Amino acid sequence: MPREHSILKCTVCGEEVYLVDRNKKKHAERMEKEKYCPKCRKKTLFKEKK
Ligand SMILES: [Zn+2]
Repeated sequence: MPREHSILKCTVCGEEVYLVDRNKKKHAERMEKEKYCPKCRKKTLFKEKK
């Protein structure tokens, strides 16, 4: 089974980052995660892009 890739998008600048989710947890809803954004150079809220 291939690894699951999620694309998370910064809600501030729109930067997209790939996230390899090794958990088998399925997210029925869009995932939201606080993450360091290299473009904003700070922690911002990322939302899963689908
Ligand atoms: Zn950003």
